[in-house]
Amino acid sequence: MTGSYFRVTLLGTGTPVPSPDRFGPCTLVEAGGQKFLIDAGRGATIRLYQLKVPIGRIDVQLLTHFHSDHTSGVPDLWLTGWLESHFGARKTPYRVIGPTGTRELIENLERAYALDIKIRIADEKLPLSGIATDITEFDRDGVVYEKGGVKVIAFEVDHGDVIKPCYGYRFEYRGRVAVFSSDTRYNHNVIRHGVGADLLVHEVASAPPELMKEPYIQRIIGHHTTPCEAGRVFNQTKPKLAAYTHIALLGSEQIPPPTIDDIVAETRQTYSGPLVVGEDLMAFEIGEAVSVRRFQPSSLLAERANIGKHLIEQI
Ligand SMILES: [Zn+2]
Ligand SMILES: [Zn+2]
Repeated sequence: MTGSYFRVTLLGTGTPVPSPDRFGPCTLVEAGGQKFLIDAGRGATIRLYQLKVPIGRIDVQLLTHFHSDHTSGVPDLWLTGWLESHFGARKTPYRVIGPTGTRELIENLERAYALDIKIRIADEKLPLSGIATDITEFDRDGVVYEKGGVKVIAFEVDHGDVIKPCYGYRFEYRGRVAVFSSDTRYNHNVIRHGVGADLLVHEVASAPPELMKEPYIQRIIGHHTTPCEAGRVFNQTKPKLAAYTHIALLGSEQIPPPTIDDIVAETRQTYSGPLVVGEDLMAFEIGEAVSVRRFQPSSLLAERANIGKHLIEQI
């Protein structure tokens, strides 16, 4: 589909927690008729299927860093996107852009799945071009992609001293800007690249005060941004809309995690502007203003009916 719209859809707003409500980190960006994925966490293919976006239709896979919750969906996207069915059908190489280490990840996946690829080529006669990969690595801030009026700029963020490399992304299209923090602590580079964005999508992590003395909680919070800190980022960048994704609500068996209301209230200590807490399949349309749309389960029913119809037609 072509078109001049600029749309962001949160496919997975979760963390390593295997939650059925919040899938692994993954965001779909559509601009200038092109489709980009930022990361590919658990369940990314399922969310694309819900949106009726063929997996093979993704033009560029961007990676932010190598934590497995951000990459465990990569082999699924790459391999399932190659299948002949309407949900796959990639005929051109799987294009991946990411920081140094991307090549190692993808080439090792090629080794890991060599037998599947060999079998499907022999059995299903799938085109070799659709399972080929096209990898671009970068090691500094700058433009990593530019085509059809869409410019993607990578910028380094701070996810902790040993979790390197880790990058956020800034998308520019027709004078509009969407910025994605990736996983990071409170970070000035996010502010530098996020100033004046139409949409700023930021991570957030929070734990109840009673748990803050636990070393493992301190370690996790130390790698992320608290709601109060995220509010400071929003206050300094003043986006038309700020949105949370990668929502880490930490608790223990005895102490429940903070609620969504808790993180909003904490954010409000430092920021009073427009704010949305992301949900899986929530979409943002970036135009004169930024509009928010929640996924309608009724479209899921329509999708099921269509698939049923399709199967009957095939029979
Ligand atoms: Zn991470
Ligand atoms: Zn993460």
